[in-house]
Amino acid sequence: MNELIRCINCDEIFLKTPFDQWPEYEPRPRGSFESFRTLERDDFQDFLEKHHGHQLEDLKILEDSFVSDKDYAEPMKTSYFKATNGKEYFVVKKNREKIDEPLKYQLIHGDYSLRCIGIEIQGKDIIKQLNAEFIKNPLDQDKIDAFLRLFQYIAKTMDIKKLERIPEESSNPLEIYYKMDDISLIYLLRNCRNIFKGQEYLDIEEFIHRHKDDGVLLLKAIYKIQITEMAKLKKEAASAPPPLRMRKFAERR
Ligand SMILES: [Zn+2]
Repeated sequence: MNELIRCINCDEIFLKTPFDQWPEYEPRPRGSFESFRTLERDDFQDFLEKHHGHQLEDLKILEDSFVSDKDYAEPMKTSYFKATNGKEYFVVKKNREKIDEPLKYQLIHGDYSLRCIGIEIQGKDIIKQLNAEFIKNPLDQDKIDAFLRLFQYIAKTMDIKKLERIPEESSNPLEIYYKMDDISLIYLLRNCRNIFKGQEYLDIEEFIHRHKDDGVLLLKAIYKIQITEMAKLKKEAASAPPPLRMRKFAERR
């Protein structure tokens, strides 16, 4: 038995078991000894009553399709996951407008994809690490700035598809860490020779090797969720009986 049910007539959905969360709780009125009651208990019954006589279908949730726009722990985030009825694909949008409101689920006919909108260096962390490691022979601020500018410039030329993703835990699903590729590394080292000389260069070279694989020299790619809405299946509208909402739409045209 599937957990996600769609009313074809109204294009509304009901998720029987909240996909990634515990049941919703709301505070009871004052004077009550019990401080919480679960909300989801009667919601499905309400859904069935509201859509009595309508055509319902099960949707299959696509595994590993869950994504959200903010940190996992953030309660006000908007999340998406994919579902299908075998013919059509849907995106389910999940959010709440206020912190004390229950989650809302909205059905979108279409798909989503993640698009990389930029690669950033971890500037502040690099400065902190350089200052900590070069405490005996501190680097000039000018040189640190030049190093950051150089690294940022190289990061902009990198092709995200050619970088190796680091399975390190990022608390934000749209910020993913990558290791720089070998060509970028060579380019970075070669250009560092113009900024740092002698022993200082050797120290920087070591610093880069120490931090390129799992440290402050990892690159942060920023992703954006892109929703592609599709036109609703015409076949469905043509097969009798047409849903009320679609009939209204047809009359207006
Ligand atoms: Zn309905």
